Amino acid sequence: MPSTADRRKHAAKVVRRLKRDYPNADCALNFETPLQLLVATILSAQCADERVNIVTKVLFAKYPTAEKLAQAPIRSLEKTIQSTGFFRNKAKNIKACCQRLVADHGGQVPQDLEILVQLPGVGRKTANVVLGTAFGVASGVVVDTHVGRLSRRMGLTTETDPVKVERDLMEQLPQSGWVSFSHRMIHHGRRVCKARRPECDQCQMTDVCPRVGVA
Ligand code: SF4
Repeated sequence: MPSTADRRKHAAKVVRRLKRDYPNADCALNFETPLQLLVATILSAQCADERVNIVTKVLFAKYPTAEKLAQAPIRSLEKTIQSTGFFRNKAKNIKACCQRLVADHGGQVPQDLEILVQLPGVGRKTANVVLGTAFGVASGVVVDTHVGRLSRRMGLTTETDPVKVERDLMEQLPQSGWVSFSHRMIHHGRRVCKARRPECDQCQMTDVCPRVGVA
């Protein structure tokens, strides 16, 4: 097991390389307000960001505020978001989440991780996305399927549980880089280090990546 200092050194190399290759990587979900990003992130579970962006354009035109979403008829909400998959559960969560925002937070999204994760449909990943991307608050490292997979391949963690992966990443990365790290890993995961067939021969990370578990 490498020492903490060695792990941080390795992580720093990965971070430098990602920064070089994806200097402007940002969130692929379209949003104008923290609420819109919160709802878009709930919708993005098991759904491509491009599809979510198509759906949210219609959804936010119909229901532009937490109040409107809280009052939206559930069937109409379900129909509008149907193409994102798991639409019954997502509609129920979005409505309940907005009802709570209206009742307890004046219809605004709170800038607090502990409060956010109490909202229906909001887990640590969604809370970190909203805090980091909408508010610029580095509350943690967003660990989605790309960040988890790449972190294991790059030797930054051996964990599979996203909470444990996040803990390992938070230990190794400086807090100032938590938000951009996830955006860059997601870009690299989509473009090069793909789930089924990572394109190692096209990858600029080969000299820093131990390719753990890659045939
Ligand atoms: S070298 Fe291969 S496994 Fe490592 S980051 Fe690149 S594509 Fe992924």
